[in-house]
Amino acid sequence: MTPPSITERVARQAERVHVSIGAVCNNHCVFCMEEDRDGRYVSNSAMTRDRVRWILEEHRGAEEVCFTSGEPTTRPELPELVGFAKELGYRRISVMTNGRRLSHLPYAALLAKMGMNRFYVSVHGHEPRLHEGLTRTPESFAQTVAGIDAVARLARFGVELHTSTVVTSRNLPHLLGVYRFLRAHGVHQVVFNVMQANGGADTHFDQIFPTYAATAAGFRAFLDACGEARPAAFLVDIPLCATEAVPDFNRGFVERYRHYDLADQASLPATRAPDRAQSGRGRGLVLVTRKDLDDAEREKRDACRACRHDASCEGVWRNYLRRYGWEGLDPVAAPIATGDSSESPHSST
Ligand code: SF4
Repeated sequence: MTPPSITERVARQAERVHVSIGAVCNNHCVFCMEEDRDGRYVSNSAMTRDRVRWILEEHRGAEEVCFTSGEPTTRPELPELVGFAKELGYRRISVMTNGRRLSHLPYAALLAKMGMNRFYVSVHGHEPRLHEGLTRTPESFAQTVAGIDAVARLARFGVELHTSTVVTSRNLPHLLGVYRFLRAHGVHQVVFNVMQANGGADTHFDQIFPTYAATAAGFRAFLDACGEARPAAFLVDIPLCATEAVPDFNRGFVERYRHYDLADQASLPATRAPDRAQSGRGRGLVLVTRKDLDDAEREKRDACRACRHDASCEGVWRNYLRRYGWEGLDPVAAPIATGDSSESPHSST
């Protein structure tokens, strides 16, 4: 049987629910898209345990619930919230985290015991200087790696360990080193996330944002140098027209998700806001989807209609196009290469 292509994998994905709970973060990443820390503090502080419980009840049956935004492990209630999700029958319960608190093995084990069965750990280099230059947080590398090691020890209980490395001009030449380092520490999937050109990545664009062509070439060079038949490494959140030279197996995509924001903090078009306002126990919240962000911040051009990837492409960040234009982003007319049926990786910038 022919394995599904990236286009087929994008089309068949199930939507997830993200629960934004981290009012603060103990890292200060240069590319963080949540640049408005005050706004995040207000919105995520409003995610009380009762509101989270309501969200989990609303989306019971979703493929995955992921606790995210800010640093979720700074919320003391996280183990309890994971327990809610497990009690409500969620089969996959995950967290996007910088991993630092997981360095305390009993805490990581508690999360797993309560039902957390997948961890997405953000790590941006394979040595302190590279990682901490991007997190702008001294000593963060050692803690994150200790967190990765702690989760790796839980793998025998069925816990999955994925990492997210945000690709910048600084770490792009070191993808092979990052990959080998993380795999040696027991990481199952190494995801290289291309930046969203928003927030900090937009502010520092000229210093850290490589072109998509350079990113794809760097990733391809890493694959060639790696020497493995199918490295468990995936390039995510880059227009597919830029990655035609990347084997289909190693092309990932950003999952569809929905989440809730505090009504007066949400970045939703005014025309959509009334339909998204919640009532009852969800009063004060509005529903936001990944497509809302895409529609507001990305665009396509007329030529995209001729592209084989048009249906599965979310478009290109306007803030990227403002700097680099459409060069290297041409519609793909050739047949799409077939891919692998392995589960698709994610974005977790
Ligand atoms: S639809 Fe446009 S932006 Fe998207 S992959 Fe095709 S050419 Fe690139």
